Amino acid sequence: MRYLLFLFFLPNIFSCTQQGSAQTEQASAQLPEATKQTKATDTAQVIVVKAVAPPKPEPNPAFSIEYIMGKFDPAQHPDFVSVDKKYADGEGYFLRKETYESFAKMHDAALADGVTLTIISATRNFSKQKSIWEAKWMGERKIENGTNAAKKYPDPKTRALKILEYSSMPGSSRHHWGTDVDLNDLDNFTFEQGPGKKVYDWMVKHAHEYGFCQPYSKKSAEEGGRTTGYNEEKWHWSYMPIAKKLTDLAARSMTDDMIGGFKGAETAVKIGIVEKYVLGVNGACL
Ligand SMILES: [Zn+2]
Repeated sequence: MRYLLFLFFLPNIFSCTQQGSAQTEQASAQLPEATKQTKATDTAQVIVVKAVAPPKPEPNPAFSIEYIMGKFDPAQHPDFVSVDKKYADGEGYFLRKETYESFAKMHDAALADGVTLTIISATRNFSKQKSIWEAKWMGERKIENGTNAAKKYPDPKTRALKILEYSSMPGSSRHHWGTDVDLNDLDNFTFEQGPGKKVYDWMVKHAHEYGFCQPYSKKSAEEGGRTTGYNEEKWHWSYMPIAKKLTDLAARSMTDDMIGGFKGAETAVKIGIVEKYVLGVNGACL
């Protein structure tokens, strides 16, 4: 009887077991699919996350020699934006977007420290630089100390070298690039005492945090400083993440004989504009 009972219950046990087993199998059969789905979802999520938040790339636009030489209109160029007048001494200035965004951050940080940074010059293309250069070349616009360069320096190379103390030949200016600004005042003395010194000291301490560097640093062979190029300009600052690429391209591809199309351009080769002026910048900005 004991065995009979056992036998009676046995199929049920099997039945339950089989049923249970079948359910388990059914569950197992579903599981890999579910797991697969989860995995697929995870993978999709990873891909989505990567697509939405990639590591911020270094700006890497393609540049041409025409661009380096300022032969474009910044007002029409898609990579340029107009500078808000709250950052400048007037309207009509343009900068590359990357330069402008970083400048705005630097401006606000400086302001929080009681320092005002005012853009007094930004992008100047070839034709703008040509008008400045030729006015100085012809004596219509005075160079330093009120000097008429056309009268005082009849020799073309000497005249060019005098103008080059502070002004670039058209085609060779960093102001073509949309990366460079002049701030507050075109006079080193302004930045050597009083409120101007506070501005300069702030820039020396913090400009690099925003990618800016002073390309025309003190010229001083004894101190291991620059030996060629423009005189020191404490007001001129470059946005290096872009300007460095442009300097590299100039070093690789630009030659003095490409510089032309304005009065006195024949002196460019004799002077060595690319090596001495375009590349004659603060080593910290290279
Ligand atoms: Zn400048």
